[in-house]
Amino acid sequence: MTIDTDAFSAQLRAAAVDTKSRRLLVTRFTDTAQEDDLSEPTNCDGHGRIRHFRRGTSAGWPDNPIPIDPASAALGLDGTDSLTAQVFQNAACNWRCWYCFVPFKLLNANESRSSWVTASTLVDWFAQVDPRPPVIDLSGGQPDLVPEWTAWMAAELIDRGLDGEVYLWVDDNLSNDYHWRYLSDNERASIASYRAHGRVGCFKGYDAESFAFNTGAAPELFDRQFELMRRHIDDGTDCYGYVTLTAATEADPTDAMTVFVDRLQQIDEHLPLRVVPLEIAVWGPVAPRVRAAHTQALVHQAQAVAAWNREIASRFASSLRERAINEIPVLGR
Ligand code: SF4
Repeated sequence: MTIDTDAFSAQLRAAAVDTKSRRLLVTRFTDTAQEDDLSEPTNCDGHGRIRHFRRGTSAGWPDNPIPIDPASAALGLDGTDSLTAQVFQNAACNWRCWYCFVPFKLLNANESRSSWVTASTLVDWFAQVDPRPPVIDLSGGQPDLVPEWTAWMAAELIDRGLDGEVYLWVDDNLSNDYHWRYLSDNERASIASYRAHGRVGCFKGYDAESFAFNTGAAPELFDRQFELMRRHIDDGTDCYGYVTLTAATEADPTDAMTVFVDRLQQIDEHLPLRVVPLEIAVWGPVAPRVRAAHTQALVHQAQAVAAWNREIASRFASSLRERAINEIPVLGR
């Protein structure tokens, strides 16, 4: 059944945020299937986990420099190939990607698997983590169902003098316009004034068909992903992208990839160089969801990333491709 994204988003938002008391539902990992996948014990009273971002990827896949390079540049860290981040997940997502490593039970704003917390509590917990990671990753779930979360965290970190010491990285599945619909001018300003901030939007496929297959959402919403990315970039946010390349097809992806990269370049000619293809792997909660079409999609992604690599190599000089991802200009910035 196709997800009614707008209706489901509204329902989840209503269940996952309390704007009066400035609280949101944050996932508690303790005794969940996701906890079994973690390489380190949870922290922050069971609501946090440490993620190791690594530049290296599998053969044939481009390096993954986000958020390593933008965070290092913003914080004045030495060049590195890995970075730790303190991850919090909001307990709601409006899509159901078959490859999601979060158990779907943790995406329903279920209070039995999450807690109502304020940004102040999250930063209190974070301050006690030892060693303290240089990055806070607001993940999901879909953080932009509760866009206030980013504003509250930015304001809290600024209040505590941590602006410039902690890079605030926000994941976004590019599904809704809540950032503009629900944030006040002051809240958007507090995000914009946070010095060390970046946002990554995830393109959930390279065409409408692969998008719908991956997310369970209507294929028309693939177009919305580009519109939302454009709006965030227009606002001056330091934006990056992921793209997942799984598709249940044996068809040659070359032509579709050409169109996908064209569409990125319609936002900005350099934007493809800020987009990183993500290889999908089968983590614990994913295995029971995998059917024949998914197995085919896992195989197909190798062909798709080869097509991506050809597009990038043919469109950009090596001198540009070799630049740090945060130094790729978009909209002349
Ligand atoms: S959008 Fe992200 S959190 Fe939501 S189901 Fe897909 S992968 Fe999981």
